[in-house]
Amino acid sequence: MRIGHGYDLHKLVSGRRLYLGGVAIEYDRGLLGHSDGDVVLHAVCDAILGALGSGDIGQHFPDSDERFLGTPSSALVREVARLVDQEGWEVINVDITIVAEAPRLAPYRHAMRARIADLLGMPVEAVSVKAKSNEGMDAIGRGEAISATAVALLQERKTPVG
Ligand code: MG
Repeated sequence: MRIGHGYDLHKLVSGRRLYLGGVAIEYDRGLLGHSDGDVVLHAVCDAILGALGSGDIGQHFPDSDERFLGTPSSALVREVARLVDQEGWEVINVDITIVAEAPRLAPYRHAMRARIADLLGMPVEAVSVKAKSNEGMDAIGRGEAISATAVALLQERKTPVG
């Protein structure tokens, strides 16, 4: 087994749609980024790549590469899932914490879990999404940014005998 950890933070700006965990969230601002800025999926990618010992999201999908401009982050997760399979591993579970002052994310929690589980080909019970506020402290507390951390556990696939 191997464990990996991921972290990401993006700035909240006007004129962008907010995506978290691959789900469109009702809000007056969205996350700035080369892709859709989905901090949750970026943290998940980095956690899995970390467990694989396979670098990070910036190496696999560089900002400088026009191919990833405006790419939905779900496509990046699918690519990471493909890499896991190719390397002979499987993701056992993922645990995510989102830190956002607003909007309230509880109504979206199940949709995020289901979406991430679908992207990784896992049961929904194996994906946990928790949301916290930052109690008004720092840039996140002032509503200027949203961050996410993720932990992923991977297990080497057993190759059938014979
Ligand atoms: Mg990012």
